[in-house]
Formats: sequence, structure tokens, C-alpha cells
Amino acid sequence: MQVHIQKCQKCNSTNLRNIIARDDAQRVFVQCHDCGSFVARYVIAPGGYFHEGRDYESFLRTQMLDRGFSSGRDLKTVFKEVSESAKAGFDETLKRTHEKYGDELP
Ligand SMILES: [Zn+2]
Repeated sequence: MQVHIQKCQKCNSTNLRNIIARDDAQRVFVQCHDCGSFVARYVIAPGGYFHEGRDYESFLRTQMLDRGFSSGRDLKTVFKEVSESAKAGFDETLKRTHEKYGDELP
């Protein structure tokens, strides 16, 4: 796993704002909170959005919004798997980030 802490290309700030936009797809636009510049855009794969602390009902609404979800599996099991894998991914990413940046974490 490679990690990279995103920065504003104009002012080097790590103070960034994520704006989630939903229409035909879910996109995240990243704006610099310090200078207002456009930093990046991410397109989220169907079923790929996970928001920590969100309950099962909310998870279901998002899955339905995404439309691409094919049922047949127990959604509560999927919710549990997604939650666990997202948290494990976050923990691993933080570990790698601290290994890469050490005390100079931006
Ligand atoms: Zn900036």
C-alpha cells in the first residue's frame, strides 16, 4: 500500500474541504479551505461510499440510490463487511501514513 497526504497544488495547505455531489454518480470535489482552489475530484464506484458512524438504515438508502447493487446476499452481512473493511482500511492507511511521514506528518 502506498499512501499520500493530499495538499493544495497552489498554497500547499492540507486544510481541505470535501464536497459530496450526487446526481447520476457520486463525486467528491476537493477544495482548498485556505485559498479556495479546486484541488481534485473523485468519482465513487457504486456501493463504494462508506461513512463511519452511519446506521444500517442509512446504508440501505445509499445502496438503493446507487442502483447498481444486486441483491441476493443478506444486506446486513454486507453492511457488517463494509463497515469492518472500511475501518481496517483506515487503520492500515493511518499506520502506513505514520511510517512514511513520521513526526513530519503534514
Ligand atoms: Zn490552497
